[in-house]
Amino acid sequence: MRKKVLAVMVLFMAFALAANAAWDFEAYQKAMTGSGRKVNISAKTFAAVSARKETAAKTVQKYLDSHFGKADPALLEAFKELPREYFMYNYEQNVSLAGMAYEAQAKPWAVGYGSALSDYLGQAYMTQLAAPKKEDVVLEIGTGSGYQIALLSRMVKEAYSIEIIKPLGEQVAKIFGPLGYANVHTKIGDGYYGWPEVKGGFDIIIVTCAARSVPPPLLEQLKPGGKMVIPIGQPYKRGQFLYVYTKDQDGKVHSKKDMGVFFVPLKSTAFGDKLPAK
Ligand code: SAH
Repeated sequence: MRKKVLAVMVLFMAFALAANAAWDFEAYQKAMTGSGRKVNISAKTFAAVSARKETAAKTVQKYLDSHFGKADPALLEAFKELPREYFMYNYEQNVSLAGMAYEAQAKPWAVGYGSALSDYLGQAYMTQLAAPKKEDVVLEIGTGSGYQIALLSRMVKEAYSIEIIKPLGEQVAKIFGPLGYANVHTKIGDGYYGWPEVKGGFDIIIVTCAARSVPPPLLEQLKPGGKMVIPIGQPYKRGQFLYVYTKDQDGKVHSKKDMGVFFVPLKSTAFGDKLPAK
């Protein structure tokens, strides 16, 4: 009997260890290679990046505390779990930007093809504004680097994301597997029309590109009680604002203006845009 208990304990510890497998330089290199990307930082640079992470997490906490009263602990956990350096990559030039992760002054980074990885404070802010819960099904429009949807995926049940730029979306689709993020689902397409094949719709829709007006298909795909966070404004112009749309249980939609932001435009045939070449 004792032996059995011991065996179960050893097994449990082995699983716990595997689940918490250390994120070290070796693991980073393996995951990068596994996702078809180049490693161009040294072990020393990797260590320097890792050493900056705690300060960045504290900065996020303070930022969220000041805006929301208190930072969501689940969001802080997710931020700490995610290796941001893994998402810092320029796919057009095929070079890693990992060495610059957790910069003291949070800023956006170009990931190629005109797309960007948003700054980490803005991403944390939009996440808490969306208020994700464990059982939620989330849709993001604008996969970009994949960081935002990866962050959300740690806090919810299923995480869907659409990217319109094919060469970017195809490469980024490969980066979630090596991290074991099995609940992230991606596709290439015009996110204006949402992802209607996902039956039942979404608890949260987060748009990470600036729309000239609210896409009605996205409001339709919001569940009753659901919430959409969306930047609205003109392409490449100042004066874009985040809006929060909520759908009540009766299906009525309410909107609220939030803070000023700056995002790359949401391109869509619905706005008369010429779409990126296939
Ligand atoms: N969420 C990203 C940042 C996205 S930048 C991150 O965490 O890094 C905005 C992205 O939206 C760009 O990659 C752009 O190509 C994409 N985009 C623009 N219009 C789109 C559309 N109609 N559907 C899906 N993606 C779109």
